[in-house]
Amino acid sequence: MFSYRHAFHAGNHADVLKHTALMAILQHLTQKDTALLVVDTHAGAGLYRLDGDYAQTSGEADEGLLRLTAKPPAAPAERAPALQAYLDMVASFNAKGRHRVYPGSPFIIHQLLREQDRLKLFELHPTDARTLLANIGQLNAGRQIEVFDQDGFEGLKKFLPPPSRRALVLCDPSYEIKSDYPRVVAMVSEALQRFATGTYMVWYPLIPRPESHDLPRKLKNLAIKAGKSWLNASLNIKSNKLGKDAAGEVVRPGLSASGVFVINPPHTLKALLKDALPQMVELLGQDQHASFVLESG
Ligand code: SAM
Repeated sequence: MFSYRHAFHAGNHADVLKHTALMAILQHLTQKDTALLVVDTHAGAGLYRLDGDYAQTSGEADEGLLRLTAKPPAAPAERAPALQAYLDMVASFNAKGRHRVYPGSPFIIHQLLREQDRLKLFELHPTDARTLLANIGQLNAGRQIEVFDQDGFEGLKKFLPPPSRRALVLCDPSYEIKSDYPRVVAMVSEALQRFATGTYMVWYPLIPRPESHDLPRKLKNLAIKAGKSWLNASLNIKSNKLGKDAAGEVVRPGLSASGVFVINPPHTLKALLKDALPQMVELLGQDQHASFVLESG
């Protein structure tokens, strides 16, 4: 069974990038009255404790959300609007000035949906699927949200095309198994054939593994072949070289970079990320390797 648990990673720099982009996309897509279908193929547990054992053990939120909130700007207007919207979203789950709870993608999405919109959530890990179901149950969202303890790569196809012909698909695997990389490509390829005008957002890690660097290239090829627009944004916060601690022991740097690839992005997304990414680099960057990429076609 999988060992990945998002509770260790909630609020890290990858979540900052992913959830900022996700919100910017959704805020645009929910401006039109027509119902929107959102499918989150790898939903996680939905809500996380930043003061709980998992988050405290990994300390990853310290390199992401908590680093951002530790350096508040003199005036919120100095923050890029997309980054400020993300910080406001996380703050809305917490008492003023505290950061104990971190909302995962299902809760962020739910906050931005209107009555007419629908959300389908897939989570395969039995424990996280149970937690997700319990967390979502508290929302009393009725038929608006459905949770499936099934494979999201497979499950997506039954919802495409959606009756309203408007959909956002978030595909955010853990990439714990190498086959996740080709499965993302196969899923997006089939989804584009079923529903070419949907918006597809894929998160990917940038790690020393050829598959991870090939993934955005493959997604770009899919988009170009389908004649669709695309956007790729990545954030690097530090060197990925092995280091040594004071005792001379080899220290792994942990995830240093990740990206989001979006097919059929809203036309507003690039400008929002153009403002937000330099601030993420400035606030989250730990060394001279800190950088971002923002490209589209
Ligand atoms: N999207 C979540 C968020 O932003 O808050 C985080 C998701 S986490 C990166 C990936 C999740 O996918 C894990 O909870 C893992 O158990 C789950 N998972 C792994 N393989 C899966 C599959 N084939 N289908 C559905 N869920 C899967």
